[in-house]
Amino acid sequence: MMARRKPKKGKPGSKGYREAKKLRAKAHKKVARQREDTGRKWAKKVVLDHDAIAVEDFRSNFLAKSTMARKAADAAIGATKAALIEMGRKHGRDIRLVHPAHTTMDCARCDARAKHALPLGERTYTCTACGNVSPRDKNSARVMLVRAGLNPAGAEGVRPPGALLQEAA
Ligand SMILES: [Zn+2]
Repeated sequence: MMARRKPKKGKPGSKGYREAKKLRAKAHKKVARQREDTGRKWAKKVVLDHDAIAVEDFRSNFLAKSTMARKAADAAIGATKAALIEMGRKHGRDIRLVHPAHTTMDCARCDARAKHALPLGERTYTCTACGNVSPRDKNSARVMLVRAGLNPAGAEGVRPPGALLQEAA
């Protein structure tokens, strides 16, 4: 609607253009609110299920030069992280921010760093130093717990029995 009503260069926008602009602002606001709602619901569940939580202290790249979809994804993940921290404080949980660098490259067992970043398609982390083989996200999660000064073994203890069987297989 805005494109069709776009004013000529140097001319002020028409009434229709201004109205279209208002509609766009309204739509963006709605998406932002939905995003916040989803983030808060997820954060509440996570916070209620755990006593201590380690979060990557990444900086959202919203202002970086990037495509709109990338910016939207960054905004969503930033809002979700903020919701998690806020919800954790509200419920008196131990929230620890960890340095986000190399969480996907370090080995959770021996602390060795992989020479190359794992491509996103590679779902299994294999350590060349100690032979540790672990699902990619699980290894990263353990690295983050260790960095936060938490004990990954303690986190394993509360997993449902089904999860333990799965790992053994
Ligand atoms: Zn290792």
